[in-house]
Amino acid sequence: MTFDWLIVGAGLFGSVAARQLTDAGCRCLIIDRRRHTGGNVYTERVAGIDVHRYGPHIFHTNSEAIWQYVQRFGEFNHFVNRPKVRSGDKIYSFPINLLTLHQLWGVRTPAEAAAKLAAVRLPIPSPRNMEEYALSQIGEELYRLFIYGYTKKQWGREPRELPASILKRVPIRLTCDDNYYRDRFQGIPIHGYTAMIESVQHGIPLELGTNYLDDRDGWRQRARNVLYTGSLDALFDYRFGPLEYRTLRFETEVLDTADFQGNAQVNYTDAEIPFTRIVEHKHFAFGTQPQTVVTREFSSSWTLGAEPYYPLADETNRARHGQYCALADRDGICFGGRLADYQYYDMHQVIGAALCRSERWSRGVLGQHRAG
Ligand code: FAD
Repeated sequence: MTFDWLIVGAGLFGSVAARQLTDAGCRCLIIDRRRHTGGNVYTERVAGIDVHRYGPHIFHTNSEAIWQYVQRFGEFNHFVNRPKVRSGDKIYSFPINLLTLHQLWGVRTPAEAAAKLAAVRLPIPSPRNMEEYALSQIGEELYRLFIYGYTKKQWGREPRELPASILKRVPIRLTCDDNYYRDRFQGIPIHGYTAMIESVQHGIPLELGTNYLDDRDGWRQRARNVLYTGSLDALFDYRFGPLEYRTLRFETEVLDTADFQGNAQVNYTDAEIPFTRIVEHKHFAFGTQPQTVVTREFSSSWTLGAEPYYPLADETNRARHGQYCALADRDGICFGGRLADYQYYDMHQVIGAALCRSERWSRGVLGQHRAG
């Protein structure tokens, strides 16, 4: 055997696991079918600006241990995510906070805002879907302005066809706090995520443009263990049917202007505007370059072969995913990450899971791949 571990996927999960296993004395090789490293956190330099190729990535965590861990691989700036909402010709503070309500209704204090909200909420004691839930929390006007059009574009369905649980809670604050994440730690790697990931992978061999599925038997002969971070349905040739996702399309352009929108992220909530947001990448790094790079993000339904982004984790898909997990367990394949776990994970969650599982794997505990 040439390697102790073949790591399929050079994204955050695969890279962190490879680092930990290597540091524990294992010989690892990372492969990725893409021609670049980093998976979805990949950033590339365009006009001197770090462009987040697969959507804007803001690192945030409440865990001091995870924050300390990422500091090992690069310095972070103090970016705080304060997205704005554009509807018609107006720009609103977001997530909905006292300033937003002042912009809309002229209220000036938390007490005035609370009274107005109580007056506009619809009396729906047992909301049956997302629309009813939102109306019961924030009323018709805020629902139409901030939730209806955006949700329809993002999920391709009417909010009344979606479960209330998607919203979990309507983010509404009666203070002027517009810090989206509110975590203890937040920022963006000063030299970009690609440099950070390269630092995580330092000294570990990496083969890009290499699809594990093209020669799985060959790979399994070269490595004692496999850690797979791709989609499990693809690994098993869609035996139980494909797992469903929403996909995204990004339209990026370089503009000969120093500042396009004055903020990193502006969400477009009107249903008639085809994209969900415009990202202006230089603002993640407080850039002062003479040009700027902006990306419009479009959400659409996923078909086999398209890039999977957001899992449609309804009951059918979850059950199907469970069947694939059982096959991976049977074949002794370790797995993890957003694709293999079929979960929407933020970066700190991916790192946490990779640290936890690789610690067990390095001790030779190869069962219970999904726990932790
Ligand atoms: P990936 O990054 O997808 O890595 C998996 C890798 O495996 C890929 O590179 C893929 O090419 C490779 N692979 C798959 N199959 C094979 C195969 N057969 N052979 C070889 N290689 C293979 N998180 C945050 O914390 N903050 C944010 O602001 C944030 N914004 C986001 C915005 C968008 C639009 C999206 C979609 C996600 C966002 N996330 C954010 C989540 C973040 O992107 C993920 O948590 C993280 O990138 C997942 O890492 P991963 O290694 O699990 O998956």
